[in-house]
Amino acid sequence: MQCPHCQSRQVVKNGKHHHQDGSAIQNYLCRGCRKRFSERTGTPMCRLRTPSSMVSLAMKMRTEGMGIRASGRVLEKSHVSIMRWEQRLADQEKQWSPPVPEGRVITVEGDEVYTRVGENLPPQESEGWTVIFLERDSRYWSVAKAGLKTIELFAQATQLAWQWAAPSAFIRWFTDGERRYAQQLWKLASIYLKSSEVTREYGHCKVWREGLEVAIKIKGSQGNRRVEWVKPEHPYTSISPACEVHANHTEANNSALRRRCSAYRRRQNLYAKTVEGLQRAVTVQRLVHNWVRPHWSLDKNMTPTMLLGLYHRPISILEFLSSRGFESLTN
Ligand SMILES: [Zn+2]
Repeated sequence: MQCPHCQSRQVVKNGKHHHQDGSAIQNYLCRGCRKRFSERTGTPMCRLRTPSSMVSLAMKMRTEGMGIRASGRVLEKSHVSIMRWEQRLADQEKQWSPPVPEGRVITVEGDEVYTRVGENLPPQESEGWTVIFLERDSRYWSVAKAGLKTIELFAQATQLAWQWAAPSAFIRWFTDGERRYAQQLWKLASIYLKSSEVTREYGHCKVWREGLEVAIKIKGSQGNRRVEWVKPEHPYTSISPACEVHANHTEANNSALRRRCSAYRRRQNLYAKTVEGLQRAVTVQRLVHNWVRPHWSLDKNMTPTMLLGLYHRPISILEFLSSRGFESLTN
């Protein structure tokens, strides 16, 4: 046990307290900073009197596609409680979002998914857009960013995706149609190339960072498709065959999202269906996708985090609720 206040390991047991359901919660005293804490401090269950088994069940229902109100009715809890529990888990996002391990070859796929939010506005004015980035081979879901379909949404989502992917030496960055992903990435990942013996034919110019390849797949109105590489690659970067440029796995993930997340499915206008609600639900969905649920198309019992080498086994929703992030699990 590590102190959540000062990270000291000089920690001693300091009695227990009990919850309504009779479960005992261990208290601790830190000898480093003299602060008291419990096994729940810093976890999504902190200062919550509800048993974690109940919250875990609610999160299972939510991530298998049940609506907030339906989940509340089944568990005999208010829908506001369900929303708050979901927010507590979503608030732990950073502790469960490590960057990609260095030195891997990764394929980043980007796409967006739309649902109706709030008033009945035309799609372009609605806040119901979510930009999604997925790593192809592991199906690791690195980014889900909800909001209005503006340049800021693309900028924020691209920045998050790049932060996640940048430690990797070889990155294939493929998105569907939308040019704004590549435009935003250019600001983050282009370098100025000096003319030299090797690069003479490039001359003085800006290129993508070494090892980064950026292409988009454009779907024409007649169903014809073409692939376009955006901006020049670094002279040492090799280019993939055109048939590999697509965001098909992200599209498949978007269909799964409609099935598993009620906010992306219902067509009618619901109470409290806001961009915050959408972000909350999709974040929980993303965490469960990466850590909890082995993907059907991957090796048996392998989660995306396992395939990326970030963790060695699937974790349970109960572990999500009772720990302070994946680093604290290994301690
Ligand atoms: Zn301490």
